[in-house]
Amino acid sequence: MNTKTEPQVDAVVALGSNIGDKVANVEHAVALLTEPGDIELTSRSRIYKTPPWGNTDQDWFVNACVGVRTGLDPHALLAKCLAVEEKMGRHRSEKWGPRIIDLDILVYGDVDLSDDTLTVPHPHITKRAFVLAPMADIVPDLELEGRTIAVWLANIVREGIEPIE
Ligand code: ADP
Ligand code: MG
Repeated sequence: MNTKTEPQVDAVVALGSNIGDKVANVEHAVALLTEPGDIELTSRSRIYKTPPWGNTDQDWFVNACVGVRTGLDPHALLAKCLAVEEKMGRHRSEKWGPRIIDLDILVYGDVDLSDDTLTVPHPHITKRAFVLAPMADIVPDLELEGRTIAVWLANIVREGIEPIE
């Protein structure tokens, strides 16, 4: 009998959508990501309405994030995130363009890694209010680049970013 259990790691995954029923898309993605198996949902942020970023000529977004506990390694967790995107019918076209759903790994334990397919912590967290606001709901005291998420959020312009619920 295989009694081996993988070490469980706490990770934070960001979700975003700007096509269709955006809130329902985020809810659906959380359900698919954490359906019984390797990824347990431990916390979730409020859902935020946020202005488009990057390519600003597109519809507003919703953004949220979830805390998960998983025995999957970082690349296996990324594969699961991409599988959820695919299952929900995401087709990659233009960079930063409209998307039915986007799942990004923000942090994975205290792992620091960067290769061709994955960079964690996600490189742009501290510069994006639409990531910091939901993150501050669940991991306000997490430290990145020498400051906590709460402090990064307090020092960034967050115009137009409001919780929906
Ligand atoms: P973005 O999220 O920047 O809008 P995409 O969702 O199209 O772009 O992701 C493109 C690729 O980014 C993914 O296929 C994945 O290999 C890579 N990537 C690198 N780091 C991460 C991360 N932390 N989380 C999710 N994807 C990542
Ligand atoms: Mg992505």
